[in-house]
Amino acid sequence: MKILVISDIHANLPALESVLENSGQVDSIWCLGDVIGYGPYPNECIETLRELPNLVCLLGNHDAAALNRIPSETFNDEARQSLHWTRAVLKTANRDWLEERPETAVMDSTTLAHGSPRNPVWEYVLDQNTARQNFRSFKTNYCLVGHTHIPLAFHMVPRGRLLHFAFPPPGEPFMAPVRAILNPGSVGQPRDHDPRAAYAIFEIETGIWTPMRASYDIRRVQRRIREAELPERHAARLSDGW
Ligand code: ZN
Repeated sequence: MKILVISDIHANLPALESVLENSGQVDSIWCLGDVIGYGPYPNECIETLRELPNLVCLLGNHDAAALNRIPSETFNDEARQSLHWTRAVLKTANRDWLEERPETAVMDSTTLAHGSPRNPVWEYVLDQNTARQNFRSFKTNYCLVGHTHIPLAFHMVPRGRLLHFAFPPPGEPFMAPVRAILNPGSVGQPRDHDPRAAYAIFEIETGIWTPMRASYDIRRVQRRIREAELPERHAARLSDGW
């Protein structure tokens, strides 16, 4: 089974479309949340996902905030401005679809969470300590997370139980050891200084994980952000991928 793993689309439709085109034929799509927030195409992104067969899509913190489950005060000024705009433009049918998203999912050998298995909506798994603690919070071979917007892999070494982590280069498949926490990076707002949309292809039988990048029309998104009078910072950062 070949899975397209995506996360943190953040209402960036051109990035999402590019990933769907470039990823080719897959058996399923797993989306780790934050479909909306920051970007100017929340309805279009949800409507694109709703059309996809074999999609599993989780709830992220920005999605939860758009549903008023998280107070907007927990976001910085610019994210809050986007959040209020998103709440105002979100169509009822798309809001209803978001309401049905789970916080976690277990797919055979793999646990899915937006932030972490321990605290699915909020926690960032960025360092070895946090990762080590989170290995206790899932029972499957693999756990896939998003939220940091940085492609990452952490794994446990059986003897000595040392934790290794790696920043996998795009286009290079590697066999994810049992047990591993893997992050595909962000489709719509990468923060690893590579402005291309990030995603991963995961073959569950073999555990082969291939981090991938796809170029998209960044200027089109920036124009739309400015037209919608969303914060300039959200347009500017897309050019540099931070
Ligand atoms: Zn996010």
